[in-house]
Amino acid sequence: MKVGKEKLNNLAINGGGRLLSRPAPVGQINFPSWERFEEKFRGIFSREYYTNHGPLLNELEAKLEKMLGVKNAICVTNGTIALIIASKALGIEGKVICPAFSFIATAQALTWANLTPVFCDVDINTHHITANEVEKLIDKDVSAILAVNLWGNSANAEELQKLADQKNIKLYFDSAQGFGSERNGVNLASLGEASIFSFHATKILNAAEGGCICTNDDELAERIRNIRSSYGVRKVVDIPFTGNGRMSEAQAAMALLSLEDYQSNQRRNRGYYNLYKKLLADVKGLKIYEPDSNGESNYQYVVCELDEKKFGFPRDRLVEVMRAENIMSRRYFTPGIHRSPPYCNDLPQYVNALPNTDKLCASVFQLPSGQDVNHEIIQKISDIIITIHKNLSDM
Ligand SMILES: *Cc1c(COP(=O)(O)O)cnc(C)c1O
Repeated sequence: MKVGKEKLNNLAINGGGRLLSRPAPVGQINFPSWERFEEKFRGIFSREYYTNHGPLLNELEAKLEKMLGVKNAICVTNGTIALIIASKALGIEGKVICPAFSFIATAQALTWANLTPVFCDVDINTHHITANEVEKLIDKDVSAILAVNLWGNSANAEELQKLADQKNIKLYFDSAQGFGSERNGVNLASLGEASIFSFHATKILNAAEGGCICTNDDELAERIRNIRSSYGVRKVVDIPFTGNGRMSEAQAAMALLSLEDYQSNQRRNRGYYNLYKKLLADVKGLKIYEPDSNGESNYQYVVCELDEKKFGFPRDRLVEVMRAENIMSRRYFTPGIHRSPPYCNDLPQYVNALPNTDKLCASVFQLPSGQDVNHEIIQKISDIIITIHKNLSDM
C-alpha cells in the first residue's frame, strides 16, 4: 500500500501504478442482482407493455406515496423534466429565486419553462439559501422561490415557507439529491408546493434515469399529470401545453428494485460517511460536511471542504492526484451556475455577486461512496489524502 513519506514518488500522477484497479465513483451507482432484474423484466416481456402508465409505474407511484407520506408522487423521465413540468404546472411567471450553488439543471429547468433565475447566495456553513438572503431579492417580478436541498440535507424550509407566505409567492424544492431524507420528521417530498427527486444512476434511488414530482396539492398534481402525458389522464384539466415526461415500465422496474434496497443503501452510506469522518478527523484544513440535526439524511454524498492554506495543497491538484489513482473525486459545483454559460453571459450581474457560492465552489469536493467502495478502499483513499498532507514538500 502506498503509505509513508517515500511513497509520494509512487503516486500514479508521478508515474506509479494506480491505487485502485477500478474507478471508484462519488455517486451511488447501485445495481440490483441480475436475477432480480431478470425477474422484473420478464414481467414486462410477458405483459408486452412498455409504457403509458403501466402496472409497474402504478405500483411504484403507490409505494412512493406510502413511503414518503405524500398524497401524489408523479414519476417522470428524469429530474430535469420533473423540474420543468413542476415549474410550468405551478403557473408562475417572470423571475424565480434559486441558488447558483447547485447542479446546472436547477437553472436550466427555469429557462426551459420561460422563467428567469435570480441567483441567491448560500450560507457558507449549511451550503443552502436562507430566508434572510432570499428576502433581499424579492421584487414585484419574483413569483417563486426554487430552493435546492443538497447532499441529502435540506434548506431551512420552515423559514422559507414563512417568507413565501408573507410575500404571497410560491415555494418549491429541487430535492434531486434528497430521496428518503427528512427534515424535522417530515419527508422532503412534502416541502413547499412541490418537491422533485432525481432517480439518475448516481442518486440513491436509481431508475436508470428517472425522476418524480411530489405534492400534497391534488389540483396541482392533475395539472402535472396532464402535462406529463401529451394527453389527459385521470381528470382532464387546463394546462398551458402538454409534453412528454412519461416514465417507462423499464424505468419503473429499476426504480422498484432500487426502492427495495433503499434502507440498506442508506445504512451503508451512513457507515461509509462515519468511517471517512473517523479516518480523516485529524487532517488539518479538511472538513467533512455534516448533515444538520434537523433531519434524517440519505448520506448520498461525502462532501469535503478544503482550506488550502491549512491543508497546504490546492484542492484542484488534490482532486487531480486522486483521479489519477482511480479515486473519482468530483468538484460539485465548479464552476457555479452563475459562472457557467449561458448565465454568465445573459445574467452578468451575478458573476461577482455571490461570495459564499464562490468560496464553496473553490473549496468543496466529494469522495467516493456507494456500491463500488468498501472499508478497505475508504482506508486507502484516506491514507492517500493523509500521505499528501504530510509529505507536501516532496510534491
Ligand atoms: C441530479 C440533479 C438534478 C437533475 O436530475 P436529472 O435526473 O439528472 O435530470 C437537478 N438538480 C440537482 C441538484 C441534482 O443533483
